[in-house]
Amino acid sequence: MDTVKYILSEDKMPTAWYNIQADLPTSMPPVLNPGTGKQITAADLEPLFPKQLIEQEISQQPTFEIPDEVQSIYRQWRPTPLYRARRLEKALDTPAKIYYKYEGVSPAGSHKPNTAIPQAYYNKKAGVKRLTTETGVGQWGSSLSLAGAFFGLEIVVYMVKVSYRQKPYRRALMEAYGARVVASPSDETEAGRSILKEHPDSNGSLGIAISEAVEMAVQDEQTKYALGSVLNHVLLHQTVIGLEALAQLEMAGDYPDIIVGCTGGGSNFAGIAFPFLGAMLRGERDRRKFVAVEPAACPTLTKGKYTYDFGDTAHLTPLVKMHTLGSSFVPQGIHAGGLRYHGMSPLLSHIVNLGLIETKAYGQIDCFAAGLNFASTEGILPAPEANHAVKGAIDEALRCKEEGVSKTILFNLCGIAFGSTSSFKKMLDANSLFGS
Ligand SMILES: *Cc1c(COP(=O)(O)O)cnc(C)c1O
Repeated sequence: MDTVKYILSEDKMPTAWYNIQADLPTSMPPVLNPGTGKQITAADLEPLFPKQLIEQEISQQPTFEIPDEVQSIYRQWRPTPLYRARRLEKALDTPAKIYYKYEGVSPAGSHKPNTAIPQAYYNKKAGVKRLTTETGVGQWGSSLSLAGAFFGLEIVVYMVKVSYRQKPYRRALMEAYGARVVASPSDETEAGRSILKEHPDSNGSLGIAISEAVEMAVQDEQTKYALGSVLNHVLLHQTVIGLEALAQLEMAGDYPDIIVGCTGGGSNFAGIAFPFLGAMLRGERDRRKFVAVEPAACPTLTKGKYTYDFGDTAHLTPLVKMHTLGSSFVPQGIHAGGLRYHGMSPLLSHIVNLGLIETKAYGQIDCFAAGLNFASTEGILPAPEANHAVKGAIDEALRCKEEGVSKTILFNLCGIAFGSTSSFKKMLDANSLFGS
């Protein structure tokens, strides 16, 4: 029988996250306090995050146990299925085997609840009452809103204004979970007001929304801030994806030669890739190919500089060394809103700089065409962000066909398209360009 999906039972779900910092040949460059130019301390981060998340942020210990309460919520949708893309393989007429890990089965439709749940859990345990955050298209905002509902935390979401207007269904989902959603830039914060003074028609950006959320969090003892990507602890939580995939590929009797993911802030890519990269770094496996795919309209890894920069537009965050297009960069309004961040995870940037990962940038029309190809063969309409991973995987499969080699490709299907009517329309336009 040709197995299509590999299902782990709930009792086989990983019980610890994997921290790749333990296996890296050199450690990450320090995070700097912009005021003093000195390395920041854990205490500097305490107005923003609870102690246990700060510990996960800076620790070199190889694993962190997943708390029982988090595991029991994870089990609502985890372990997620691993699929063999048999019809896509056939359509491409490739000798390659293509597997995808499907994170679209979470209640928010993406990988983001994997970190929203533990972040809300640790904040609740620390006595925090309210979390502020930013969101682009609303994937992260809805994931944190979901987590807030589970743990009884108040959630305030600064949503990039262009998406606030374009994605009313995402806003409705956040409000259904009990969150308050504010179009950013707003007049609620210094940062927002100063942007609006100069650019009253500003569409907003993730950098601006982060400034607003951080500003609100530091002003109040009982309020903290949550970030949906970029930070080490976020990447740590997402490793549950790759750890499950390792076990599922073992069920399939396979091991990937090529691992592909899309990169906005780096978290879903890290989630699928780090457990496999760790095995390589520890010498348990030969060198593998890792491919991080980003949009040509926001080419952080392929065109950005690897340098110290701020994480936000108003320069309220510490200085981190990362691949960046500059903290004032405002990308075009492409539909993959989750990939429009000016920077990149410092941990992933460090690993790219070590030469362990290849990077690629694709235009959005090519990615939508790949997503439609995937939808018509596998039946799942990927999120605009996930289309980039689909495109990356298809290109690798076509290369296998050209070279006549059978490789095993694994990619992360990090989210499903929904609540984004304008994206569907764009996909149809892309189809008419490529279809006939
Ligand atoms: C947020 C998001 C991304 C981008 O964030 P990463 O941290 O790079 O994963 C990608 N895909 C989906 C579906 C998202 O919701």
